Amino acid sequence: MPSDPSVFEQTLTLELSALQPEVRVLIVDDDPEARDYLVTVVQEAGYETAVAASGEEALKLLDHEFCPIMITDRNMPGMDGVTLCKRAREGQYPGYLYIFLLTAQNGDADIVSGLKAGADDYLGKKNISTPELIARLGNARRIVGLEQALRRALDQKRQMANTDVLTGAYSRRYLERQLSLELERTRRFNHPVSVLLLDIDYFKRINDRFGHAVGDEVLRSAYRRLRDLLPRACDWIGRYGGEEFLVVLIDTDLRGAEIVAHRLVAGLAESPIETSVGTIPVTISIGGAEAAQMLTSDLSFKGLLEIADHCLYASKRDGRNRYTLCLDSDSPLALSSISSHAHAEARHQ
Ligand code: GH3
Ligand code: MG
Ligand code: MG
Repeated sequence: MPSDPSVFEQTLTLELSALQPEVRVLIVDDDPEARDYLVTVVQEAGYETAVAASGEEALKLLDHEFCPIMITDRNMPGMDGVTLCKRAREGQYPGYLYIFLLTAQNGDADIVSGLKAGADDYLGKKNISTPELIARLGNARRIVGLEQALRRALDQKRQMANTDVLTGAYSRRYLERQLSLELERTRRFNHPVSVLLLDIDYFKRINDRFGHAVGDEVLRSAYRRLRDLLPRACDWIGRYGGEEFLVVLIDTDLRGAEIVAHRLVAGLAESPIETSVGTIPVTISIGGAEAAQMLTSDLSFKGLLEIADHCLYASKRDGRNRYTLCLDSDSPLALSSISSHAHAEARHQ
């Protein structure tokens, strides 16, 4: 489930402080003296350090505790620095790895081959001065910080696109994408999937009588109650439209869907919703459909939802506060049930 909706109301910001993150620098050198020298300089410049004595050790360390900056010696027994650069570029890390290649030979060919192998910068082992090393590390930190900030902003944006701002439920866009993937799995592995399309009854009257802000409160509370009535982690609920929600029930056939539909209709009718202007009785109508393998060869998300919508219409037509489920558009409505609860008459007159 998406977390607190207030998170998604925040604007996307690239914090300046994030551009100067605390980063750990991985120092790779087979020569202990050279390694110790670099550790001292890099730590004095304000960075944390990690060390590896070979290319192989460096790759293992990056896999387990990623460091965004690596300074590696070029000439090492076993895997040399150039090969380490190439292998590290093939790795799947949580962020960009900025690589310095430390080379004793400052010849053009050596520098070019190092950069081509994936190094971002090179440092001459003999003639690098401490201030130059610190200045270049600062550049690396800026680039790494920018990349991390952009990655966070992208993650935030993705989460916002997947989340409905008013309720914190999954967005329609998310539901459409995930359900399409789920239908693909149904086609392949014959796992049943059912959907329930929920619509709040006479919602317009709530808006008209109590105002749009109270209508919004009712939507948020109704979502929370519905979500709490769906304890299985693999089932999802999202906001499909204005006062419509879509529930996707994984590995659930129509019989299972009926149990859930009954629980949801009853769970809403059972007690009114608390709002800032008092309690308001709310009922829902549901239309549901199952995507079974033999039906899904040409059954798309849109097709499945059309069937569910057709059933929802039947629930509305037959008096609301009930569910109607069917197998496919050609079958007669296979299951139809009326919920009879104390608060069934939510007419808000
Ligand atoms: P029915 O029982 O047939 O579903 O009747 P209804 O009144 O619920 O249906 P109708 O489609 O006529 O009205 C839906 C209303 O939902 C109209 C619209 O103003 C309201 N609505 C849609 N989105 C929002 C929203 O985000 N907040 C609020 N407060 N109201 C919304
Ligand atoms: Mg509606
Ligand atoms: Mg409605």
